[in-house]
Amino acid sequence: MKIGIVGLGLIGGSLGLDLRELGHQVWGVSRNSDTCERAVARGVVDRASVELSLLAKADLVFVCTPIDAIASSVKQLSVFLAPSAIITDVGSVKTAVIDQVGLLWHNFVGGHPMAGTAESGIEAGIAGLFAGNPYVLTPVEATPKEAVMVVEDVVRSLQARVYFCRPQEHDQAVAWISHLPVMVSASLISAGMAETNPLVLPLAQDLASSGFRDTTRVGGGNPELGLMMARYNRDCLLRSLVAYRQNLDQLIEGIEQEDWQGLEKKLTSSQLDRRRFFPQ
Ligand code: NAP
Repeated sequence: MKIGIVGLGLIGGSLGLDLRELGHQVWGVSRNSDTCERAVARGVVDRASVELSLLAKADLVFVCTPIDAIASSVKQLSVFLAPSAIITDVGSVKTAVIDQVGLLWHNFVGGHPMAGTAESGIEAGIAGLFAGNPYVLTPVEATPKEAVMVVEDVVRSLQARVYFCRPQEHDQAVAWISHLPVMVSASLISAGMAETNPLVLPLAQDLASSGFRDTTRVGGGNPELGLMMARYNRDCLLRSLVAYRQNLDQLIEGIEQEDWQGLEKKLTSSQLDRRRFFPQ
């Protein structure tokens, strides 16, 4: 298959490496020529250009730009593509993207690979990023079945675990397990940095070990991603943040009142509930 990728960063680059390995012909578009050169040199794509016209003969295009550039990329791309070409995106938010892009290209299938690292840009792309990880597809009623089948086949060939759901359900689910954690994790870092004792802060930084490393990983990642989550998944994120604040308030109240039994009960149920997210 002839596959185009717009946006050659972590996700676009990783897709290119796997898709080429699977024998597809992969063409990539980036805004800047240095990225194009690196993409070819790294074997991420067969050919690369700053011009979207490079993708004119593509059967399938993955749009892998930041969320705020997905609709404009599709609009510019639509001038060059054959009507039969399928476009899919990898944005971490689906409703806002589909509301805009659905009007621009009929053969559009919303998608979101649940895989990533803290790195970004062309050097961040790695082979095998999607293997074993969930990849959500969010077709709507108007999405052509044929297009969904093509995208599903390609995504399955990456060894990803494919899930289907409505865009709104996707957005609330990822608000809980991805977008809320980014905000909470960022708040952990800034709460620690608010320590005013000049002896304690450096000591805390020296003592920080695996627990703090794990819980601050997503908050210390690419700020642009967190910003996009908040801007484009605002309602779902706010709903999750308010629920989280209620949990924090209950914790504060319980500890203030030295309700150790209540605290033990809460921590015990958290220990059990975590297994519902990670059964093994
Ligand atoms: P990234 O590493 O920063 O790559 C995005 C690439 O898009 C950049 O390298 C940049 O390349 C290009 N780009 C930036 N602004 C652009 C614009 N205005 N117009 C056209 N191209 C632009 O980011 P990423 O992590 O791959 O994220 C890309 C998409 O994947 C986002 O929509 C994100 O929501 C989604 N996603 C990310 C993760 C994750 O964990 N990182 C996971 C799942 C999904 P040039 O500067 O060379 O043009």
